[in-house]
Amino acid sequence: MHQTPQITKKILAFDIDQTLNIAKTPIPPEIAELLVKLLNYFEICPISGQKYEQFLLQIVDKLKEVGVSEDQLTHLHLFAAQGTQYYNYDIAEHDWRQVYNYPLSDEDATKITSALQESAEELGYWEADQLAPGDEIIENRLSQITFSALGQTAGTEAKYAWDPDMKKRQAIVERCQTKAPGFLYEIGGTTSINVAAPGMNKEFGMTHLLEELQVEKSAVLYFGDMTQPGGNDYPVVQMGVDTITVRSHEDTAYALRGILGIISALNK
Ligand SMILES: [Mg+2]
Repeated sequence: MHQTPQITKKILAFDIDQTLNIAKTPIPPEIAELLVKLLNYFEICPISGQKYEQFLLQIVDKLKEVGVSEDQLTHLHLFAAQGTQYYNYDIAEHDWRQVYNYPLSDEDATKITSALQESAEELGYWEADQLAPGDEIIENRLSQITFSALGQTAGTEAKYAWDPDMKKRQAIVERCQTKAPGFLYEIGGTTSINVAAPGMNKEFGMTHLLEELQVEKSAVLYFGDMTQPGGNDYPVVQMGVDTITVRSHEDTAYALRGILGIISALNK
C-alpha cells in the first residue's frame, strides 16, 4: 500500500554557488520561477559565503524579473556571509532590513588577509596579473575574508580551470593554518577560500536560521553541492539537517520540480 506523502518541511535552505546557479552568476530563469512558486509554500533561505549585495544581484533581482510579489518576498530570508548576516524583507518599508551582523575585528581581518596573500605568493598562486582592472583577490566581507584566486569578475571557464581538484586551495589553506591559526578556513565555489572566526561557518548560519525562524532542524531541507567533509556545506550535514547533495543547479531544479509536483498532487 502506498503511504500518503506528507510535506513536513517548512524551510527550504540553499547554498548558492553551484546549487542555485553557475558559480558567481545570477540564478537562471528556471530556478527563479521555481523559487517564486515555492515561496507560496515554504520559507526560502539561501545561505552562502557571498556578500549581501550579491544576494540581491544573483537572486532577488532575478525573482523580480519573473514577477515575485512583495508578499512572497516576506518568505525569503537572506543569510549572507555564511549566515553571519541576516536580512529579511520589510513590507512596510518596501526594502530589506538587516536583522543581525557579526563582523570580524580589524585585527583579525588584517591577520587573515596577510596570511592568504603570503601563502598564495609563496606557492606561486597569487594571480594578480590576471585580474581585471579594479578587481581584487582578497575581499573583506565584514564577517569573513574571501580569497578569489582570479578575482570576482573572471570568466566562468577560467575559474573552473584554475583549481578543479581543489589542490591549490588546499595547499594555500595548509600554509594559512600555520601563519594565522585558529580561524576557520573553507574551500567554496570554484576559486574561493572563505575565512572566518571559529564557529562562523554554515553551522553558525543554520543555527541562527533555526532561532530566527523558530523551527526545529527537522523542519529544514538543505540543498548544497559541497557536502563532503571539508566542503562549505558539510557543517550543515554534521548538524543532522536533512540535506540533498546536488552537482549543479540542474539537479536542484529537478528536485524542486519534484517537491512542487507532490504539493500539486496533495492539493488535488
Ligand atoms: Mg556551493
